[in-house]
Amino acid sequence: MERHPSVYGLGRTYPGHAAEMGAAPDPVVFVVPWTSLAPGGGEIPWPPGADLVHHEVELVLVLGTGGRNLDPAAAEEAIAEVTVGIDLTARDLQARLKERGHPWARAKGFPRACPTGPLVPAAPFRGRWGGIDLRLAIDGEVRQEGTVADMRPDPPGAVALLSRWFELAPGDVVFTGTPAGVGPVRPGERLVASSRALGVEFACTLVPPP
Ligand code: MN
Repeated sequence: MERHPSVYGLGRTYPGHAAEMGAAPDPVVFVVPWTSLAPGGGEIPWPPGADLVHHEVELVLVLGTGGRNLDPAAAEEAIAEVTVGIDLTARDLQARLKERGHPWARAKGFPRACPTGPLVPAAPFRGRWGGIDLRLAIDGEVRQEGTVADMRPDPPGAVALLSRWFELAPGDVVFTGTPAGVGPVRPGERLVASSRALGVEFACTLVPPP
């Protein structure tokens, strides 16, 4: 049986976004299928059953090694590459699932829900994660701007936390949560996610069904 990377998502890791969702800044974890990845962005099919899709720009980590019960130093070493990504979320579907106490998988794990930019080495950012900025613009207008300095736990802490519950493996991908400013995306709009510190930028567009 062929094995593919796991894709982990963290929620509520930035107090600003937790507040705008009416939630406490207490990290939550979800997992989406690897077919949700969309390296390089491009066209994303509109998610089935959704009327409202939100953008969440995030720092994305790619692991070079794995393991369980990593301490923060080992977790930091495990982060091999980083980029920006967008955790596209079917917000209306997520709200209905939350009401019923169901998992968020359908709202977060639809095909190509997780576009990502070009990967850059993580080593220069070890010990200075807070210097990474995140930005999302729609049709040229900045909608989300944040800094990893506001993320709790920080990226090594997030990997350490995940490794308490899951066995992490090389190639695994971690979406680390979004700063404040999430909002709706309409079909045909050009989303550009970027980070000056990482020197990374990519674009994507949601496409309605024919
Ligand atoms: Mn997210």
